[in-house]
Amino acid sequence: MTAKLINGNEVAQLIREELKQEVTQIKEKYNVTPGLVTILVGENPASISYVTAKQKTSKDLGFYSIQDNQPQDITEEQLLNLIDKYNKDPKIHGILVQLPLPKHINETKVLYAIDPKKDVDGFHPVNVGKLMIGEADFLPCTPAGIQQLLIRSGAKIDGAEVVVVGRSNIVGKPITNILLQKQKGANATVTICHTGTKDMAFHTKRADILIVAAGKPKAVTADMVKEGVIVIDVGVNRIGMTPEGKAKLCGDVDFDGVKEKASAITPVPGGVGPMTITMLMMNTVKAAKLHAGVK
Ligand code: NAP
Repeated sequence: MTAKLINGNEVAQLIREELKQEVTQIKEKYNVTPGLVTILVGENPASISYVTAKQKTSKDLGFYSIQDNQPQDITEEQLLNLIDKYNKDPKIHGILVQLPLPKHINETKVLYAIDPKKDVDGFHPVNVGKLMIGEADFLPCTPAGIQQLLIRSGAKIDGAEVVVVGRSNIVGKPITNILLQKQKGANATVTICHTGTKDMAFHTKRADILIVAAGKPKAVTADMVKEGVIVIDVGVNRIGMTPEGKAKLCGDVDFDGVKEKASAITPVPGGVGPMTITMLMMNTVKAAKLHAGVK
């Protein structure tokens, strides 16, 4: 079997078209324009490129959008005051603080200062707790993107054996929580593996759907999966440079080997990556609707 490719660029584009229409509708019907502020501290090149991409997408979708650049030496108090200002700004529905922050600033304190109703990254403990009990307003962006990729590629999630490799707070734990809810697009039996797991292959071989977020190239190889598995490779690992001087990337799964056994697989790049920003936009539209009292 050679796997079908799950194309994240295509799915993300489709969702962006849907969001564009939704933005037009809520502007016309409720006079609300989704507002997003992205706060960037310092001049980390990777952070600048992420924030620029988020800003561009939000403008393309018709959002009211602000990029707030702050110097590297901003104090924690000044940053907390800035967040407070945006918490109170009725035109802003989503606040995104680009991580990492400089070492003299306590990241947790900053993320916890964001109004949970404007926490479009879904990292505030209120939103983490709501996800846990099946009442999430915002799903964290990368896990939400994984769920959309599965749903929109026709994967049968309900009743599936899902195995997640990795238990981070931004990918492994939230995708586990999302897929085990007794809800549409979920209701799976989910197992989570990590470096303390005794026999990882025992678990991965049982998976109908395998989600790998380990941050290690070839953490999963062909001998560790069963025929017909659907594989979502979240990993982004830099493994050198292309002749054109761009970073050469690979995922956490041995793509060439695993694609011969899988029924579907995401490539890296072009799989989960493009979905993350799109889910941030979806959360901002949702925040604007919640703010306006629209169901
Ligand atoms: P992380 O915080 O480093 O967590 C990695 C997890 O994988 C940990 O729970 C670790 O276990 C587990 N792990 C590592 N090696 C393992 C192995 N050989 N066997 C079993 N478990 C193993 O990473 P993350 O933030 O979740 O990110 C994971 C990957 O996804 C990274 O490559 C990251 O760049 C990528 N990512 C991509 C996107 C995107 O938009 N495409 C977004 C977020 C992350 P322990 O807990 O025991 O240490």
